[in-house]
Amino acid sequence: MNSSKSNDATDSSCQGGNLDTTEEVKDELCPGFKDADTFVKYGLGAVLSATKASAGLPQSGDEYDFYRSFPGFQEFCESQGDKLLHCMSQIMQNHGCRSHIKDRDKLTGIEERFDLVVDSNDVILERAGILLDEADGVNRSQKPVMPVGFQPPKIVVSSWNRKGSSSGSRSETFRLLHAKNIARPQLKFKEKVDNSNTPFVPKIFIKPNSLKALPSYFTNKQIRKERPEDLDVPAALADFIHQQRTQEHVEDMFAHPYQYELDHLIVPESLLSKPEPQMYKPLAETNLTFVDSLEDLVTLNEKLCKSSEFAVDLEHHSYRSFLGLTCLMQVSTREEDFIIDTLELRSELYILNEAFTDPSIVKVFHGADSDIEWLQRDFGLYVVNLFDTHQASRALNLARHSLDHLLKHFCDVDSDKRYQLADWRIRPLPEEMIQYARSDTHYLLYIYDCVRAQLLDSNHGQPGLLQCVWNKSRDISLKKYLKPIYTEESYLELQRKQKKSFNTQQLTAFRLLFAWRDKLARQEDESTGYVLPTHMMIKISEELPKEPQGIIACCIPVPPLVRQQVNELHSLVQQAREMPLLKVRNHRCSPEVSLFGPHDVSKVSEGEETIRLSAPPKITLFQVALPILLHFIQLLFISPNDQRSMSVAQMKARRIIESFENPFRMYLPSADVHVNKNAKFDPSSKIFEVIEALFTSFVVVSTEQRAKAKRSYQESLQKVPTVRQQAAVSYLLSHSFPVCFYLI
Ligand code: AMP
Ligand code: MN
Ligand code: ZN
Repeated sequence: MNSSKSNDATDSSCQGGNLDTTEEVKDELCPGFKDADTFVKYGLGAVLSATKASAGLPQSGDEYDFYRSFPGFQEFCESQGDKLLHCMSQIMQNHGCRSHIKDRDKLTGIEERFDLVVDSNDVILERAGILLDEADGVNRSQKPVMPVGFQPPKIVVSSWNRKGSSSGSRSETFRLLHAKNIARPQLKFKEKVDNSNTPFVPKIFIKPNSLKALPSYFTNKQIRKERPEDLDVPAALADFIHQQRTQEHVEDMFAHPYQYELDHLIVPESLLSKPEPQMYKPLAETNLTFVDSLEDLVTLNEKLCKSSEFAVDLEHHSYRSFLGLTCLMQVSTREEDFIIDTLELRSELYILNEAFTDPSIVKVFHGADSDIEWLQRDFGLYVVNLFDTHQASRALNLARHSLDHLLKHFCDVDSDKRYQLADWRIRPLPEEMIQYARSDTHYLLYIYDCVRAQLLDSNHGQPGLLQCVWNKSRDISLKKYLKPIYTEESYLELQRKQKKSFNTQQLTAFRLLFAWRDKLARQEDESTGYVLPTHMMIKISEELPKEPQGIIACCIPVPPLVRQQVNELHSLVQQAREMPLLKVRNHRCSPEVSLFGPHDVSKVSEGEETIRLSAPPKITLFQVALPILLHFIQLLFISPNDQRSMSVAQMKARRIIESFENPFRMYLPSADVHVNKNAKFDPSSKIFEVIEALFTSFVVVSTEQRAKAKRSYQESLQKVPTVRQQAAVSYLLSHSFPVCFYLI
């Protein structure tokens, strides 16, 4: 590191721009190095010696404190520290990263600096990854779909839930490295997102158009907002009181607030008779209003309340949020189009319930299943009197049921669905995206007319089919939003969906990674797919990398939170590797009961001793006890030494025994330790009885053998010290499971 060559190399790379200035370096990749290999070789050597040198520095703690008491050492450290910071800062600058690492006034904590280094590493590695991809011919677009010429909004690197602005709570939050293009809308929400692992409780607190009053739980803000920790009594008592208070509301809390109204909704005659389709106004002649203030929203609500029908659609974002975010609402009346910024008006949108739950106003959606859930989840909005054109399309048996198809079919409009998966959090919304969003509802009321007419025509003017669509639509509006709840079994559901075969270690890793991912996603308000995509989680589980680097290698491109917490992930994988490797298999005939018995290896070849553990296998007592018993028989009567003197019956018994594998062998440190010798040789013990009973059913145990067993038991009693006996018993009890306990 101290050689002048190394300094030259560092300096020139830090100063950038020098490369082209002199003739002789023109042909060289880096001054003083003829090609990349030489440079890399040299660089690695330098890194190695630097690593060695740093390992030789006084260790933190007493050793460092002692050295630090010498002013000379102190000065040296400080000057070297400054040099290093300067160098790092320049490298960061060269890569366009934030680089005030050496600015001591701005940043005080070492954690802040460490974060900066992590940030920069990410940026640099990301860039290296992109370049490598490019070299491989892969074009990995880093940006969300955006219209041509659109300037991304300012870069925001922040954690949505950071407590306060101080760095004191840093350990509780994480720096989000990838929110590069779009400000996190969650930061502006008046009410924080509730990602807790608790069921969703409706947000409604005022119920317009009610036939049945809103339960007191929702109207009483005090009960609703009360948390056990708010009660001024000891914690245990607070929990109890809170539980009691909520207990009486549980039924109301999880009911659909408009269940009663929807159950009593009657479709009026007028909506079951054939309409004359009312042509949509040309887009160019239609007024479009962008609603992003409460005032405009109130005006819109008043307009909607006066209409007899309007069309609605939503745009949603799910990647950078745990539960998902409704970003936009499009509303079209026969006269006008509206686009509502639902990120801005998130806490005010509930006022639309006045129009949305008015049974005399039809709300037309296309494929409302998700919309109904999003409206409840984000705004506490409900829909009474829904007509879903997707359901109509199905009832009409049209060729396809997508909105583009209906647009083409009824309006001869070619829609451009390119923006469907755009990042709808972008603000200000580019014009192209506004136009796209608007076209999702603009034609919908006309389509609503057309499909109603066709539904009647196709049913000889009878309203049956149309009534069916109204009923289906009502069922959709009765849907309740369900929050994803993490349980101990959640990972098995995902595994089942992925149809993956895992051994016990892999399954443990999968379970631990799943729990880690869920927790972090909730905490950071990110989707689980952002934290760690499922295919990467499977890859890590399958490969169980020994080193943290191996985990990184399973995740290309590396998700920022994986990189940040690779050590935590590594320790989870290590934990999984410590699991006993249970060889189990998939029973092809009955996927539900995937295990015939854990010992059944008769049809398994060496290579395929894994199982699709779709659910914890149901193992009967018999299935567990049998291999243990057989193992005992083997130990009792057929020790390898007596092979020559085995009777035919014994040979037969042995063959049977050998056809089974003891699934608990892996729990046992060595061949004999696990056997409770006292029980095994004691003819008066339960286990001896059972073994004997089982054995005599196909082998005749000679009296002589019996006497021999008895003698050896007596001998063993004298030889084995009591403590060891006890240790053996306890070992057996703790390792060979309750079955042994039961037997003994
Ligand atoms: P749409 O009703 O077609 O406007 O879609 C509403 C929202 O659903 C979009 O903003 C997307 O977030 C989501 N979405 C629609 N189609 C897809 C799809 N094929 N894959 C994933 N998300 C989709
Ligand atoms: Mn939609
Ligand atoms: Zn849409």
